[in-house]
Amino acid sequence: MTWTDEQRALQGSTREFVRREVVPHLQAWEDAGEVPRELHLAAAKAGLLGISFSEEVGGQGGDLLDSVAMQEAFFEAGGSSGLAAALFTGGIALPHIAAHGTPEQVDAFVRPTLAGEKIGSLAVTEPGGGSDVAGITTIATRDGDSYVVNGAKTFITSGVRADFVTTAVRTGGPGHGGISLLVVERGTPGFTVDRALSKMGWHCSDTAELSFVDVRVPATHLVGAENAGFAMIAEQFVVERIALAVHAYGIAARSLALTAAYCRERQTFGKPLVANQVVRHKLVEMHRQVEVARTYTREVARRHVAGDGVIAEACLAKQTAVEACAHVVDQAVQLHGGTGYMHGTEVERHYRDARILGIGGGATEVLTDLTARLLGYAP
Ligand SMILES: Cc1cc2nc3c(=O)[nH]c(=O)nc-3n(C[C@H](O)[C@H](O)[C@H](O)COP(=O)(O)OP(=O)(O)OC[C@H]3O[C@@H](n4cnc5c(N)ncnc54)[C@H](O)[C@@H]3O)c2cc1C
Repeated sequence: MTWTDEQRALQGSTREFVRREVVPHLQAWEDAGEVPRELHLAAAKAGLLGISFSEEVGGQGGDLLDSVAMQEAFFEAGGSSGLAAALFTGGIALPHIAAHGTPEQVDAFVRPTLAGEKIGSLAVTEPGGGSDVAGITTIATRDGDSYVVNGAKTFITSGVRADFVTTAVRTGGPGHGGISLLVVERGTPGFTVDRALSKMGWHCSDTAELSFVDVRVPATHLVGAENAGFAMIAEQFVVERIALAVHAYGIAARSLALTAAYCRERQTFGKPLVANQVVRHKLVEMHRQVEVARTYTREVARRHVAGDGVIAEACLAKQTAVEACAHVVDQAVQLHGGTGYMHGTEVERHYRDARILGIGGGATEVLTDLTARLLGYAP
């Protein structure tokens, strides 16, 4: 795919931002377990937060392909998957409000988040299960001008720092037809961050367990129509899955570049690693898998922007990229030898970060089953 001049310029400024504002600090944020709020302001100033959000809601315009172009450059320059999850959480917390919210909701939540002044999260997953979105049990009962919310959410990205949480709640009967989206603000009595969760990877991305005990939320914080939440969540799945595919081949491509450089430099038995045919062939296999994942994902993104229905293809892109990534980061650690097993070596971080990509945003098995139904392979 040939990027436009604007997309190439965006990639240039993204690389510059990552090299200047991110790379020197990333290990410190990994150790701290979160990224500073100032980074959101800096990213907004650099023009990275509002891409693919319309100017009417405070974004910079553009579409999913612009986001893909930006994210590829983000990973190429040394941004991590965990950092992207933490910095771009607005990408999953805001689209429903931007598309279906009231002007007041857009002013209160979308604009300040795209300006880097607020942080938002999306809370769907519950301790009782995340794959079955239609089965959520957090209840919101209408009482006068408010909803009263009771329940719990877990594994919520940026939930420790969030100023507001776009929360999936049950306002109606069982199943997907009874779900709504409510924005719950930090500081609302009864709403607490129970725990900051400790994880295998994505260390710089704070992940929270949230609890709701008789939380009174103004009815004006309902996003879109009551009981229309599932459709709004599902509407965003295609974009989220393509974004996670970009994470996967993005960190795989970066791991490949680091490994190729290491193999040219590292000597064993009196010659560089790349002098061994088996090593060169491993690099080519890593390259092949990255190329296939990148080319297919970009094509699915292009078709989505063109207006084609690509629900199944987005699932396939995610799986293709996740499997490529799993292979590449494993081989990257292998070819770095003992160095690859050390904390602080970049490929070690990508190896740990990669593991979530086949679980979050729809586990591979669940997406494969959805694809089977969409392609007519299910009974
Ligand atoms: C670091 C991190 C960040 C996250 N961020 C967010 C967030 O910001 N917001 C949010 O709402 N959620 C978030 N999640 C939750 C994530 O989306 C869920 O973990 C995911 O949807 C899987 O749900 P679960 O963990 O409850 O697994 P379960 O639903 O219990 O499934 C467990 C495993 O069983 C298998 N499985 C499940 N169902 C089937 C089936 N029908 N057929 C075959 N196999 C099946 C899969 O292998 C799956 O991984 C995050 C999770 C993590 C770990």
